[in-house]
Amino acid sequence: MTEKVVIIGSGPAAWTAAIYASRAQLNPLVFQGDPTNNKNKQNGTLPLGQLALTTEVENFPSWPSGDTRAYLKTALKPDDPDFPYWVADDKDQPTHGINGPELMALMRQQAKNFGTRVESKDVVKVDLKNKPFTLTMHDGSTVQTHTLIIATGARANYLGLPSEEKYKNKGVSACAVCDGFLPIFRNKPLAVVGAGDSACEEATYLTKFASKVYMIVRRDQMRASKIMAERAMKHPKIEVKWNRVVDEVLGNEKVVTGLRLKSTKDDSTEELAVGGMFCAIGHTPNVAFLDGQVKTNEAGYITWTTVARTYTSVDGVFAAGDVADDYYRQAVSAAGTGCMAALDAERWLGHHGLV
Ligand code: NDP
Repeated sequence: MTEKVVIIGSGPAAWTAAIYASRAQLNPLVFQGDPTNNKNKQNGTLPLGQLALTTEVENFPSWPSGDTRAYLKTALKPDDPDFPYWVADDKDQPTHGINGPELMALMRQQAKNFGTRVESKDVVKVDLKNKPFTLTMHDGSTVQTHTLIIATGARANYLGLPSEEKYKNKGVSACAVCDGFLPIFRNKPLAVVGAGDSACEEATYLTKFASKVYMIVRRDQMRASKIMAERAMKHPKIEVKWNRVVDEVLGNEKVVTGLRLKSTKDDSTEELAVGGMFCAIGHTPNVAFLDGQVKTNEAGYITWTTVARTYTSVDGVFAAGDVADDYYRQAVSAAGTGCMAALDAERWLGHHGLV
C-alpha cells in the first residue's frame, strides 16, 4: 500500500499538519520518533519535540497563564448556546495555563481523534528520487508514500557540559522567549552565552525580568548585526564578559546559582553569581536523514522554493516548522506552516488525481 501523506516530526508543525490532513480524509501516518533511542534523548528529538523540554507555554494563543478554569468562565459563558460542550464544573480541568508537553499531547490527541496513525519510529533513510517516495525506519521497515511533510524541527545547540545537562529546566535554557518569564528567573542576575543576533535579542529581552544580564562572549567582538549588538551593549542592565567561556554551571542541586567562567586569553577563571544561563549559540536543523536530497540553505535549514508555499526542491515533498525556519522559531508559527503543508499536500494529491 502506498500512503497518501506521511508526516515526519512530533512538534506543533507535525501535529497541525496531521489534524488538517486527517480532516481532509488523507489518512496521514506520522512518524514521531523512537522514545528509546539515546541519541534522541541527547538531541531533544524525542516524541513531542522541543516543546516537551519546556515548562509553561504562555505565548500560544488560547492558552493563557493562570487559572484556566477561571479564564474559561470569563471567556465562554456557561449558558452560551454557541458552546454546548461547556464543562465549567469539570473537576479535572487544569488550574494552570498549559505547559509544553501538555500542549503537544493535546495536539497529538486532536490529530488522533480525526484518525491520524502514529508510529514511534525514527526515519533513518529516504529515497526521494523515485516516486512514490520510500522511507526506511530504524528497525529496517519501509513505507511508500505519494507526499511527504518534513516537520522534524531543529535542536538548540548547548555547550555540552555535564553540569549544563544537570540543570536543564532548573535554570539552564536555550529559549529566553519561552522561559524568561518564569518565576525562577525573576529579579536575579542571568547570563546569556553567545554573541550573535539571538544572544543580543535574548539578553535584551531578559532585561525585562532580570536584575542584570551578563553576556558571555568567547571573542573580543560580537557576531551580531551592528544595530542588535549596540542595542544590547548600550543597555544599562547588560554587561558583556568578553573573551570568556562557561567552564561549569554551578548550582545547589535544585537551581542554578552561578557559572564558572574561563578566560580564552589566559588560564584565569572566575565565578559569576547568576540564577540562570541561556544558551544562544545557534540551532541545528534535523535533516541528517535526508542525506542532501532536499535543498537547504547554508545553515542546513530546508528552503521553500516558492514564496508563501511549503514546497521544497523535491516535487511532492513539503517542509513545515523549525526545520524550514531559522528566523521565527515559535510554536504558533510552526503550527501555521504545518497547516499550510497539509493543504499544499492535499492540493498536490488532487492535482495528480490521487485523492
Ligand atoms: P549565530 O550562528 O549567528 O551566532 C552564534 C553565536 O554563538 C556566535 O556568537 C558564536 O561565537 C557563539 N558560539 C557558538 N558556539 C559557542 C560556544 N561553544 N561557546 C560560546 N559561544 C559560542 O546564531 P544566531 O542564533 O544568533 O543567529 C542565527 C541566524 O538568525 C543569523 O543569521 C541571525 O542574523 C538570525 N537572527 C536574526 C534575528 C533578528 O534579526 N531579529 C534574531 C535572531 C537571529 P563566535 O561569534 O565566536 O563564532
